[in-house]
Amino acid sequence: MLAADPGPARVLVVEDEPRLAALLADYLRAAGHEPECVADGAVALEAYAARRHDLVLLDLMLPGLDGLSVCRRLREASAVPIVMLTARADEADRLAGLELGADDYIAKNPFSPREVVARVKAVLRRARAPARPPATLHIDEAAWAAHWQGRALELTPNEFRLLRTLASRPGRVFERAQLLEQLHGDGRAVTERAVDSHVKNLRRKLEAAGAGSERIRAVYGVGYAYEA
Ligand code: CA
Repeated sequence: MLAADPGPARVLVVEDEPRLAALLADYLRAAGHEPECVADGAVALEAYAARRHDLVLLDLMLPGLDGLSVCRRLREASAVPIVMLTARADEADRLAGLELGADDYIAKNPFSPREVVARVKAVLRRARAPARPPATLHIDEAAWAAHWQGRALELTPNEFRLLRTLASRPGRVFERAQLLEQLHGDGRAVTERAVDSHVKNLRRKLEAAGAGSERIRAVYGVGYAYEA
């Protein structure tokens, strides 16, 4: 099933490289959005406070107030979707952004404005989705059993361990390496690829039980999060 197009949005683009900001604005406009570009973190906070945009596209490296500080300040007052742009390949930066409440991040190297527009759309779709009925995942650690709305999920021990970990902190992104620690290899060497394979099976079983296909969210290049 294709999710509905989330429609146009007023996007605050916080980017201090003028050419990049102009390029992003062009692509966003072509996709039907209404971009406003600012080149500075403090100005971004003022602009957001005044005009409450639908989404913030936030560069990590900014003069003055940096992107992580802007992210933290926005989150103190608002649940506005935030997509971070980062030139650094350093995963610690990406994770810091996600832990501060950014909804997604995009690496600027290599930079693809098309991908930015696609991610903006995906984040808006999540933010604008009608509230789902409360999810009732029940995990019985003693019995090694998991139920979705009363229906038993027939999980392998590794799938159970992954679900238990992910569901322990809904919304938090777990790195593949952290999830890998949960897997037992039965004597075989397990790789981060195994995490993807178990998550794929786990998603299929959750979907079959009626939990939807996006209950476990992939964060590209980082890992997975369970969405309550
Ligand atoms: Ca920058």
